[in-house]
Amino acid sequence: MSLNTSIYGLIGEKLGHSHSSYIHKLIFEKVGIKGIYNLFEVPKEKLKESVDTFKIIKCGGLNVTIPYKVEVMKELYEISEKARKIGAVNTLKFSREGISGFNTDYIGFGKMLSKFRVEIKNNICVVLGSGGAARAVLQYLKDNFAKDIYVVTRNPEKTSEIYGEFKVISYDELSNLKGDVIINCTPKGMYPKEGESPVDKEVVAKFSSAVDLIYNPVETLFLKYARESGVKAVNGLYMLVSQAAASEEIWNDISIDEIIVDEIFEVLEEKIKSEGHHHHHH
Ligand code: NAP
Repeated sequence: MSLNTSIYGLIGEKLGHSHSSYIHKLIFEKVGIKGIYNLFEVPKEKLKESVDTFKIIKCGGLNVTIPYKVEVMKELYEISEKARKIGAVNTLKFSREGISGFNTDYIGFGKMLSKFRVEIKNNICVVLGSGGAARAVLQYLKDNFAKDIYVVTRNPEKTSEIYGEFKVISYDELSNLKGDVIINCTPKGMYPKEGESPVDKEVVAKFSSAVDLIYNPVETLFLKYARESGVKAVNGLYMLVSQAAASEEIWNDISIDEIIVDEIFEVLEEKIKSEGHHHHHH
């Protein structure tokens, strides 16, 4: 590593099996950036100190994940208008003036929908879960003129307080609903709990498209229900690669061709499928 190799990375509390180092390594190679992307597990009480340290070492750029996407905002000099509306940032850019915050989950979600031709405009959209990822998804659905937007939550009373502008419902109420696009923004079904789904097959079957933000396994039980019901099924892998590319674009003031994103997506999908215990047999 030479003086002009920049350090990039991801900060979060637990980063166990993150694919981000691998994705950014491929981007660096394909775009010709001298960089290294590391995972940094930061305990809650050390968040501010860590961010200050990255400022001192002139960090090339940082991604932020659970549970810091909201909390880190108070350490920032400026926040993009979109990220402020969403209420969460996942990308930090360092400059002499200070740290700027962005939300590329929003961008990645949009690229994924375009790639797999999932229409939002004038459609009834249902979002499962009300956490950080759901925030970006809900803002995207609103900006792109969904007809009705439902938030499904385990605690409607509490969730209504934050998401008053959307139709907040319980999982019971969801069983009577028919719509166009259903999006899983909960961690239910994620490795190693692959036997779980946030909703039953009968629920998924009443939609035209099912989108899962989860990418490990590449086919969750939720998406298996969709496929078996003739519902279009899209996993979160393209979103993951797209948000990484969008962060690199912000950090390096570049534009990354969609072909590069597609290539990395394909390589990563193969890698995840071939990783022994994560493998699914059909
Ligand atoms: P989060 O902030 O922890 O929120 C998850 C939400 O799901 C919670 O607010 C909760 O909503 C609901 N939930 C949590 N545990 C649940 C359970 N056992 N059963 C049912 N609902 C449950 O997480 P997040 O950051 O939003 O991420 C959610 C998922 O999206 C994760 O799997 C993450 O890996 C994935 N993700 C993927 C990408 C990508 O690029 N593909 C990007 C971001 C996130 P209620 O309390 O309202 O029910």
